[in-house]
Amino acid sequence: MPPIARVEPLTITRALRGPFDYRLPPGLADVEVGTLLSVPFAGRELLGVVVELATRSDLPDEKLAEPRERVEPAIPAELVALARWIGEEYCSTFSRALQLVLPPGAGREVRPRVRVREVLVAEATDAGRAAVADGEGAAAASSASTSAVRLTDRQRAVLERLAAEGPLPATATGADHGGLRRLADRGLLMLEPRAQRRRPLVQAVGARALHAPSLTEEQRAALEPVLAALGPDPSDRRHAVTLEASDAPRSPAVPGPATSPPAPGPVRRRFLLHGVTGSGKTEVYLQAAEAALAAGRAVLVLVPEIALAPQTVARFQARFGDTVAVLHSQLGQGERYDEWLRLANGEARIAVGPRSAVFAPLADLGLVVVDEEHEPAYKHEGDPRYDARRVAAYRAQQAGAVLLNGSATPRPESVQAFARLRLTRRVDGRPLPPVEVLDMRDARHPLHPATREALGDVRRAGRKAIVLVNRRGWSNFLSCRHCGHVWSCPQCDVALVLHQRDGALACHHCGHRERIPTACTQCHSASVARHGAGTERIETELLEALGDPDFPILRLDADTARGGKGAVARTLERFDHASAGVLVGTQMVAKGHDFPDVTLGVVLDADQTLRFPDFRAEERTFALVAQLAGRAGRGGDGHGRVLVQTLSPDAPSIAAAAKHDADGFLAGELERRRALAYPPFASLIRVTCSAEEAGDAAAAAQAVGARISAPDAVVLGPAPLFRLRGRERSQLVVKAPRRRVAIASVAAAVDAAARTPLGRRVQLSADVDPQ
Ligand code: ADP
Ligand code: ZN
Ligand code: ZN
Repeated sequence: MPPIARVEPLTITRALRGPFDYRLPPGLADVEVGTLLSVPFAGRELLGVVVELATRSDLPDEKLAEPRERVEPAIPAELVALARWIGEEYCSTFSRALQLVLPPGAGREVRPRVRVREVLVAEATDAGRAAVADGEGAAAASSASTSAVRLTDRQRAVLERLAAEGPLPATATGADHGGLRRLADRGLLMLEPRAQRRRPLVQAVGARALHAPSLTEEQRAALEPVLAALGPDPSDRRHAVTLEASDAPRSPAVPGPATSPPAPGPVRRRFLLHGVTGSGKTEVYLQAAEAALAAGRAVLVLVPEIALAPQTVARFQARFGDTVAVLHSQLGQGERYDEWLRLANGEARIAVGPRSAVFAPLADLGLVVVDEEHEPAYKHEGDPRYDARRVAAYRAQQAGAVLLNGSATPRPESVQAFARLRLTRRVDGRPLPPVEVLDMRDARHPLHPATREALGDVRRAGRKAIVLVNRRGWSNFLSCRHCGHVWSCPQCDVALVLHQRDGALACHHCGHRERIPTACTQCHSASVARHGAGTERIETELLEALGDPDFPILRLDADTARGGKGAVARTLERFDHASAGVLVGTQMVAKGHDFPDVTLGVVLDADQTLRFPDFRAEERTFALVAQLAGRAGRGGDGHGRVLVQTLSPDAPSIAAAAKHDADGFLAGELERRRALAYPPFASLIRVTCSAEEAGDAAAAAQAVGARISAPDAVVLGPAPLFRLRGRERSQLVVKAPRRRVAIASVAAAVDAAARTPLGRRVQLSADVDPQ
């Protein structure tokens, strides 16, 4: 019986579920799990992944087709297993999940769009090296074996260069092609095409010789258990993966009978590095990475967004040089492909990148770092809707690696599940800046008088401030003063936002744009009121009040980020290099940059995130205020100050952030979540149904809900959602203490509902752990 390959075709059709059996011809007898094959399928040719090998098939031999050919490179088998898990964990399909782990550019096409770039390389042979080496020694000149080697000055120069510098691209040798060919024919050099790596833009700054500073006492104490976990412990590495069990809410430990010996228990390998901003978390990651490499194991480092974390990437490159491969979407496809290959073949052992880097082809993973683990950017919003933090945890467990999440404002989930390591002080010894809460309930102007005064002080002192406004555009919405009409999107049931500079009203959900109205469309009154203040308006106000060439007002938000590749980095750099000024923007301004000379941080409208109907609203608000506070007062004379404008001065998140009380906030938040059965005490799964008719969406949600049969799961809804892109929507939220059972039940319910006549008129999507 010929060997059988079970192949999962790469398609996005949910209905088409493999794997399908193919008979392997002798020429393909050595395929493995993870090999890419082009296979005949229903009269077409498809790219597929071998997910299993078998000795026999249930199909009769004459029905078995043979793959056409192998497509290079293959995916590591470990990533095939990871994709299988992701397909199930996120109510998606194996095939869609496999597309996440493909080499960059492989896509669904049979032929990869990207190939290794080859260049002609010249390398001196032993004979070639001997010819130039002997020429230098007088004694060797008489040697009969080398006296035959006659070289022109030009030829000698080329060989000497190759002998000294090693292999070079032919074009860099200083000789033309014919000249090189003649030397090659004489056996003095080799001329052959070799793969050339396309180097990513982010270059190492400084040399790899940059030395690690000696750790502070706190850093040392935090690093120690991580190093211990990285140490040899073959007994319990590579367990069967049981993320579920260790993630389940833990009940208080019940002491066993006194006679029973202590359970050996696996070494703890999952850590949360909870350290205030500037406490030196990155240095802990770097030294943990060094230890993993020294133990012969690879390292995966996830950052929320490369554009906002260039410093972290640069520090890894500075410390480890070419051992670091950077994977991110702003790289060209060729560069990404080359970085992927360097990881796959072991040339690079540290992968750094945003959430998709969690699929880096690293063998023998020893350490997984998730920096700024509270960032929502780790959640992927396409199908499969994976959460890179959870995938990272699974990968770490799959490989027996240490997981190290870090943040100044960690998620309650991680506080609950991981061993917590604390860094309570900034490395520079400066205290966190005092935070003042400004009550805006009676305010008429978007800037509180105290805020205006503080910004004036910053300008007079020639210092820097960061102002966070969590909404882009000019005004949140427009209304008619006469009849109350509100301008809203024709496609979505949301208000349009005024973008003054573009002369447009824009929908932030679908991108719809229209001209700024001069009169009401209902009653023709010319009296139109603008409500609220976004980044654009605040920028303009500050420009008018404070701006001058020596005190620039810079804006950073999704609109200014559209200014092309590198626009974010340019703005950050301008602010960094300016001697004074203000950076105004959305939450992008509160992410991981380290500006040493910012003395004032301001959050306008801090409760804006609180008004979202989301159980994470408090957590988000706390993180926002605390992260911004971390940007102020890092240098100079240490006179940092933070102002928080809010309509809810008593909200727990704002009160706790003002006191820098992360522990108090986390304890209260976990209590609240326990009482309401929210994560981490239960898992949430959201099912969204959208259709042209509101009735269809609601009926489909109802039908899905009726099919969900997970014991102890609570199904909330259907509840209508606002219309989006012309589609009516309805949603269900499933709260389930037992995750796996609930996920399987929801997946089955959605699949079954999709096959009904109603289901064909409705788009159904399930989101596990919605953000
Ligand atoms: P975090 O990531 O916790 O916000 P960083 O890792 O960025 O903090 O550290 C803040 C600054 O302190 C960086 O400039 C870093 O180089 C420096 N630093 C970190 N650890 C040490 C140390 N042990 N000694 C001296 N400087 C340090
Ligand atoms: Zn009107
Ligand atoms: Zn819209």
